[in-house]
Amino acid sequence: MSTTAQSAAMARADRLGAAVRERELDALLVSAAVNVRYLSGYTGSNGAVLIGAGEDGERRFFTDFRYATQIQDEVPERYEREIVSGDLLEFAVRSLPGDGGRLGFDDAHLSVKRHGALTEQLPAGWELVPAAGAVEALREVKDADERQRIAAAAALVDEILAWIAERGLAGRTERQVAIDLEHEMRLRGAEGPSFPSIVAAGAHGARPHATPRDVEIPADTFVTIDLGAIVEGYCSDCTRTFATGELESEARDVYALVLEAQQAGVGAVAAGPTGREVDGVARAVIADAGYGEFFGHGLGHGVGLEIHEAPRLHKLSGDAALRAGNVVTVEPGIYLPGRFGVRIEDLVVVTDEGCDVLSHFSKDLLVVD
Ligand code: ZN
Ligand code: ZN
Repeated sequence: MSTTAQSAAMARADRLGAAVRERELDALLVSAAVNVRYLSGYTGSNGAVLIGAGEDGERRFFTDFRYATQIQDEVPERYEREIVSGDLLEFAVRSLPGDGGRLGFDDAHLSVKRHGALTEQLPAGWELVPAAGAVEALREVKDADERQRIAAAAALVDEILAWIAERGLAGRTERQVAIDLEHEMRLRGAEGPSFPSIVAAGAHGARPHATPRDVEIPADTFVTIDLGAIVEGYCSDCTRTFATGELESEARDVYALVLEAQQAGVGAVAAGPTGREVDGVARAVIADAGYGEFFGHGLGHGVGLEIHEAPRLHKLSGDAALRAGNVVTVEPGIYLPGRFGVRIEDLVVVTDEGCDVLSHFSKDLLVVD
């Protein structure tokens, strides 16, 4: 791992150390793979970290012998790197210093049984304290290293959309298009798709989460393609709806309306408003035109190490203001059952003034036959 990536990971661990102190904990035990990667750069499957309170607190990393070489490359030296035989968390708990304290753990990712086993190993004077969401809260604001990886994942999807537009759609099956685009993104450097790609033609496009079928894409209809790539651990997410020929006039009007709502949503994203408010701006455009009941999902979601993370742009997303460094999608859609669906989705980085759009493929209605 590069020294930039290592210092970015250490800066995250130090920010978490400060949060651990604010929560009046002495240390936090982190075991969810995605959070371990965020804090240490470790990409293997069996790892855990212990973050002591304060920016200069204890930093311990635990794994097993299979990863002894890998952690030399990936995990910064500031971590005390320990090779453990047996259960990592039980070892971490057993090896806490003797003077006692409060140990935070991720109660959202730990079963009652595991909690019982850890309690048995806990040295005298130590107490387990639920602290779910501590790492996820930090992950909402992306640092420069993360933004650069997400931008690369978004740029790769732009390339794939251009490649699709050039190759054509009509006459190939939805499943074939989905398989081919995922293959092509791997050839071009993706670690894989960030979720199973959606390719949905005609009436099938009226299902927001349609699964690609062994059905040929006909001429003169819409095809919704929703795809994302993973680059250096980070996801992207983008949707475009193409036409495969002539469309009825209502279809063209619906496309124009979704685009108008999408642009209004992008225009409303900034540090300051809540996710609910931004959702409301795009939703009003669709509702005012009489299609409100056909836009049944939230406007967007956070994207990072995971394809769906905080913050959400949704009417239920609470009162938290969007913050500079959040990375979110803006993806309104209109779905007319039995007829067709249109969704347009960009990935954006929230800034103080507005947002930087990371998806650059054209949003004009393109005819790809
Ligand atoms: Zn998507
Ligand atoms: Zn999305």
